[in-house]
Amino acid sequence: MTQLPFDSDRFSAALTRQWQRFGLPDAQAMSRQQWWHALSGALAELLAELPAQPAAGPQRHVNYISMEFLTGRLTGNNLLNLGWYPALNDLLQQQGQSLSDVLEQEIDPALGNGGLGRLAACFLDAMATTGQPAIGYGLNYQYGLFRQHFSDGAQQERPDDWGRNRYPWFRHNAALTVTVNLGGKVKTEQGKNRWIPAFQLQGEAWDLPVVGYQNGVVQPLRLWQASHAQPFDLQRFNNGDFLRAEKQGIDAEKLTKVLYPNDNHQAGKKLRLMQQYFQCACSLADILRRHQQAGHAIDTLADREVIQLNDTHPTLAIPELMRLLLDEYDFSWESAWQLTQRTFAYTNHTLMPEALECWDLTLFRTLLPRHIMIVNAINAALKQQVEAQWPGNAAIWARLAVVHNHQVRMANLCVVTCFAVNGVAALHSKLVTEDLFPEYHALWPAKFHNVTNGVTPRRWINQCNPALAALIDRSLNKPWLTDLDALRALEPLAEDASFRAEYRAIKQQNKCDLAQWVEQKTGIVINPDALFDVQIKRLHEYKRQHLMLLHIIALWQTLVSDPQANLAPRVMLFGAKAAPGYALAKNIIYAINKVAMTINADPRVGDRLKVVFIPDYNVSVAERLIPAADLSEQISTAGKEASGTGNMKLALNGALTIGTLDGANVEIAREVGDENIFIFGHTVEQVSALKSAGYAPAVWRKKDKQLHQVLTALEDGTFSDGDCTAFDALVKSLGAEGGDPYLVLADFRHYLNAQQDAEKRWADSEAWTRAAILNTARCGMFSADRAIRDYQQRIWQAVR
Ligand SMILES: *Cc1c(COP(=O)(O)O)cnc(C)c1O
Repeated sequence: MTQLPFDSDRFSAALTRQWQRFGLPDAQAMSRQQWWHALSGALAELLAELPAQPAAGPQRHVNYISMEFLTGRLTGNNLLNLGWYPALNDLLQQQGQSLSDVLEQEIDPALGNGGLGRLAACFLDAMATTGQPAIGYGLNYQYGLFRQHFSDGAQQERPDDWGRNRYPWFRHNAALTVTVNLGGKVKTEQGKNRWIPAFQLQGEAWDLPVVGYQNGVVQPLRLWQASHAQPFDLQRFNNGDFLRAEKQGIDAEKLTKVLYPNDNHQAGKKLRLMQQYFQCACSLADILRRHQQAGHAIDTLADREVIQLNDTHPTLAIPELMRLLLDEYDFSWESAWQLTQRTFAYTNHTLMPEALECWDLTLFRTLLPRHIMIVNAINAALKQQVEAQWPGNAAIWARLAVVHNHQVRMANLCVVTCFAVNGVAALHSKLVTEDLFPEYHALWPAKFHNVTNGVTPRRWINQCNPALAALIDRSLNKPWLTDLDALRALEPLAEDASFRAEYRAIKQQNKCDLAQWVEQKTGIVINPDALFDVQIKRLHEYKRQHLMLLHIIALWQTLVSDPQANLAPRVMLFGAKAAPGYALAKNIIYAINKVAMTINADPRVGDRLKVVFIPDYNVSVAERLIPAADLSEQISTAGKEASGTGNMKLALNGALTIGTLDGANVEIAREVGDENIFIFGHTVEQVSALKSAGYAPAVWRKKDKQLHQVLTALEDGTFSDGDCTAFDALVKSLGAEGGDPYLVLADFRHYLNAQQDAEKRWADSEAWTRAAILNTARCGMFSADRAIRDYQQRIWQAVR
């Protein structure tokens, strides 16, 4: 497959149609914003006119269902993947416009919370690039993840109306609209079940193009948008209850208004369950329509299609397919169940109990009266199987049941149904079988797999770090963006002083660029020669941003008490949003900001320590920070971070990791070698030993004087104008009352020791650069292309 040729005449004609729509006399009259809009709209037009892709070969087509796709900006990425960036750059230059300035106009589509949604976006890119036929199914939220700003250091949220109604990349395909039922009751007549819904709404298909890397492939990301059902409640209409009927139309649109801002935490809200069913019903209808339109019988579905569930959020697709097969296609239970089992695969993303979705049985039954019958039947069949294996063992059944204690457990439904279950890093997958689902694993060992996550090098090197991409191009002289293992050939260059100088100069320039942007955004002046120490990810207790905060306070106290202290100048950078209802996470943000204000204003510290919390962390902010990072903070409590993908992006861009043996850090350490990473902290085994021995944070505080000093500064008003309660939530979480569930105090000393090791390495800039180069050279396995090939070999295209 080859790159699509750029046809400048057709492009110019499309561009003209765009500015004419603005009612302007000529292209020169466009504002920069209009340039972005017109350029993107013209490109979208050209892509929409492409001939249909050739039918898939023997390989199964992938349907990737995810509640979240955190795509980030599309225009620049699509241009690079199309290979049209240079041509457009010239074309705009002739018009007196800078392409990169124009691309800055795009508002991120933030249709996701964090890692899970970003993974889905990376996977679509990798499937289009590796030639895996696929479609992504998601929701077209009117409001993406909230916008964050700070008011005296406290997080404030504003709605993110990102402009879906005028986003030029969308193509609305009215022929694909689906009707979705909700509520009501089930009538059973002569053994047949008929669902009589209380109301209906419409699902409209809005497609975004996913462009493969210079291979001519364009595949859809199909986002469903709810609109009012038509005709709306006819009964009410006929009864003269116009207003109620009209209101239903308004309510329907509410369904895809807003993305739930929780990351790794279930909200349990009715509207969320409705969103989940809406997405699943629309996607299933679309999959079956395509299958049948291609002339295939429904009972061959699993031979041609696989449905990958990104976490449990789209689990309702399982009973929905069962319902369609049983009620619409008259399948027997056995054949429906067989086909369903052969169709679905499930990716688990977390072991944390608060994130494992359970739905109240009554709520479930009210919205989905037919589906609950099916789930109950699945549960009853499971019970027989469990009873045969472990007769009379009520404790085991209590763990394995799909319906238990008036709750429907979505993860259990997935494991019981799917032909494959995978974790997202080697350690995580091991814990899935050993800790989360040991009995299921005993029943069906062959179901369980690992597929370590990956990131797309197109966005996370080529787009965000063009200078590094150019250096790699010059040095390797062969394609590497579609074969990231080729980076290994950089290894010997780590020993080449002139290559190190080039590599270091690129990092330095990226740091200067970031410093300029930080000053413009926050007013804080940072020194580009300092060590840039970066923690960027959602704010979560288990990710332990507060552990980094304790280190910052320790550094400050050292600088103040010993002005001669031989410490490397550092800039500590954070980016993180806290879920609006997550009080502790918000208090940690507040504490970081207040500490930052104190330190940044302290003349005794000057340039030696600066703390910057970048507001409104999102994909575009990540693209600026990652190429400029020296040290990557991946410091979650061992066993809590399923994989992480930020760790991979940073390592590929030559940041050294300081991290725990958690998630994919374990594999990063294996790849780069112990001498090129700073590992610290309790291991999974040590964490559980510590906890079963009865962990008491106060004991750890008592035996470490520096730790005590640091915590005292948070308690005595040092950073809060004497207010001793400002950081109560944070302080309590680390004390006897909160119990320090994530072992911040137990890892503090190890962490500071690892930071000192990092500092020693930093003092030798040649040694540091050598290690940074080896991080780039040895992290090729973290390409999303490798992850997609693993999914193909182990799950999607495995013998079936
Ligand atoms: C990669 C990425 C994440 C995931 O980061 P982790 O450190 O793996 O949690 C979250 N948000 C954005 C915007 C990202 O680009």
